[in-house]
Amino acid sequence: MNDSDLNSLEVDVVVAGGGNAALTAAASAAEAGASVAIIEAAPRIMRGGNSRHTRNMRTMHEAPTGVLVEAYPEQEYFDDLMRVTGGITDETLARMVIRGSGAAVAWLESHGLRFQPALGGTLSLARTNAHFLGGGKALVNALYRAAEAAGACIFYDAPITALDIEGGRFKAAVVEHGGKPLRIAGRVLIAGAGGFEANIDWLREYWGPPADNFLIRGTPYNRGAVLKMLLEAGAAQVGDPKQCHAVAIDGRAPKFDGGIVTRVDAVPFGIVVNNKALRFYDEGEDFWPKRYAIWGRLVAAEDGQVGHVIIDSKPVGRFMPPVFPPIVADTIGELAVKLGVDAPTLEKTLRDFNAACRAGSFDPNRLDDCRTEGLAPAKTHWAMPIDKPPYRAYSLRPGITFTYLGVKVDASARMQMADGKPSDNIFAAGEIMAGNVLGKGYLAGIGMTIGAVFGRIAGTEAAKHVRG
Ligand SMILES: Cc1cc2nc3c(=O)[nH]c(=O)nc-3n(C[C@H](O)[C@H](O)[C@H](O)COP(=O)(O)OP(=O)(O)OC[C@H]3O[C@@H](n4cnc5c(N)ncnc54)[C@H](O)[C@@H]3O)c2cc1C
Repeated sequence: MNDSDLNSLEVDVVVAGGGNAALTAAASAAEAGASVAIIEAAPRIMRGGNSRHTRNMRTMHEAPTGVLVEAYPEQEYFDDLMRVTGGITDETLARMVIRGSGAAVAWLESHGLRFQPALGGTLSLARTNAHFLGGGKALVNALYRAAEAAGACIFYDAPITALDIEGGRFKAAVVEHGGKPLRIAGRVLIAGAGGFEANIDWLREYWGPPADNFLIRGTPYNRGAVLKMLLEAGAAQVGDPKQCHAVAIDGRAPKFDGGIVTRVDAVPFGIVVNNKALRFYDEGEDFWPKRYAIWGRLVAAEDGQVGHVIIDSKPVGRFMPPVFPPIVADTIGELAVKLGVDAPTLEKTLRDFNAACRAGSFDPNRLDDCRTEGLAPAKTHWAMPIDKPPYRAYSLRPGITFTYLGVKVDASARMQMADGKPSDNIFAAGEIMAGNVLGKGYLAGIGMTIGAVFGRIAGTEAAKHVRG
């Protein structure tokens, strides 16, 4: 199919987006015999949304696999999800994601992706998360190749600017392509166009002025246009608009697309203070993969949306090194000056913390017994005196990964309407519906699993719908 000089086109399945969820859906629909158009807002060189920044997906398994050690059974996965979401999840859909995760790995392998052998090292994910060899870029490239091989036609640099939907029935998408509008009619729409995390104006509606200080870790193209159009067309909404995956990242990161290397994973090994040089949360609450995604929100709630993580020289090498070098000083007073916080207050914060640390057996691989006593807030694990210079600090900002506000779907990925009826021919997968499973909190690697599992369901169901 040649897309030049067209101002209208008709296919079976219009796929909005060009990341993991959209591409998995597109390949599945095309392999099932449907004609498919993938509509990616980004130019080819920037294709792949947030998926291109990823490294792994959380995967259930009953016994060691080629890429994961030991077992990670369904119930443990579900319990982990319940803990981070505080129970705000649709259990049926969540269990579908969990049960489908092993098959999703196999499907990706059969579509050209390779996985790394189980990872040791600082991430502690060897049992739970299967890592893409070559990262998210390799995954995205493999999926584009697979979708194209199955006959899908791809439009790059083609943001969807309008959706023609009547009474929950999709008719066509209007796309800005090559400087002119292109109408792409379809018998089915699969919405895989991500969240609205790159739309600062929309974030500001819920967060107020602090949103201006947020850094967006991923693609600038996830502005939520498709999500907004679906909600305006009467889709049922899920998810709290203020809930998002937000981690603490280095304040020197770029406004958009800094990716994984700007994340600062030092928190469990030190303390975090705000601009008043005071601690504000338990840095040792749980294992980092289960807790890192709350730190963006915590920092967002502090003055100026800034935090500073402070460590001494003991934990160097125990966490993933960020791309930016730490701020280093031989004394806490000197460090305070470099960070621009009050030196006597920071010295007192450190003194109080060090005095409150109770001796235990430090072990970053378990919830150890090194904790503080008589300190508020407490540090409940991995609390070791910060006393071995040189001292190091990273200044943190909230790094928004993705938002949870989305459209409601059922077990066949079919979008539900606010009036309680299912849409006739609209399906959704990935970030745009992740709020069905993630009411709040985050479990490292589940974002890609949601997209991979629901992408396949959406693509298969779309092809079934087309066949009638
Ligand atoms: C730095 C970073 C690291 C991450 N690491 C992991 C990880 O290791 N494991 C994990 O599970 N999750 C990770 N995540 C989260 C993960 O990226 C998402 O959960 C996942 O990529 C969502 O996939 P998706 O296909 O729904 O969205 P995306 O991959 O973001 O794709 C959305 C697509 O929609 C397109 N689009 C947007 N608006 C329009 C429009 N109007 N018209 C047409 N197209 C449009 C975008 O260009 C993009 O192609 C990470 C995220 C970031 C930012």
